[in-house]
Amino acid sequence: MHKILVSRCLLGHPVRYDGGSSGPFDRLAAWQAEGRVVGLCPEVAGGLPTPRPPAEIPGGQGTAVLAGEAQVLTVQGEDFTAAFVRGAEIALRQVREQGIRIAILKANSPSCGNRETYDGSFSGVRVSGEGVTAALLRREGVQVFNEHELEAAELALAQLL
Ligand code: SF4
Repeated sequence: MHKILVSRCLLGHPVRYDGGSSGPFDRLAAWQAEGRVVGLCPEVAGGLPTPRPPAEIPGGQGTAVLAGEAQVLTVQGEDFTAAFVRGAEIALRQVREQGIRIAILKANSPSCGNRETYDGSFSGVRVSGEGVTAALLRREGVQVFNEHELEAAELALAQLL
């Protein structure tokens, strides 16, 4: 049975920077009942506490962080880059160990966003780009969806069977 990596905040775990979570999502609950779901919060796994200060990537590109060309900074200017990269590497290890080819990651997050992230100005402006974990998993060949793309994820899962 193919497993799916899922952002823990989408499973109702209160791991967001502000201590919040999202959901519930019926499809995720069904996949959990089937034993397919591997939950991970890259930022917590990378060593950050909850709650934690909001962080963004100036320019919004997780690939640039992985290349050492951009940082992840909190609103106060603290450098969270190492923890974000560590969390992404933990996610990569999980998908390799468990043969995971599909991930459902929280939209717009500087770790998990798969299409857009905030631009680093902490003013709510989003740019086209990926979070650090989403970028690393996509590079590994994992199909990364967000919580608004669960139907597409289900189709992709069906094609794996
Ligand atoms: S978006 Fe990703 S990093 Fe942020 S709380 Fe959810 S799982 Fe953790």
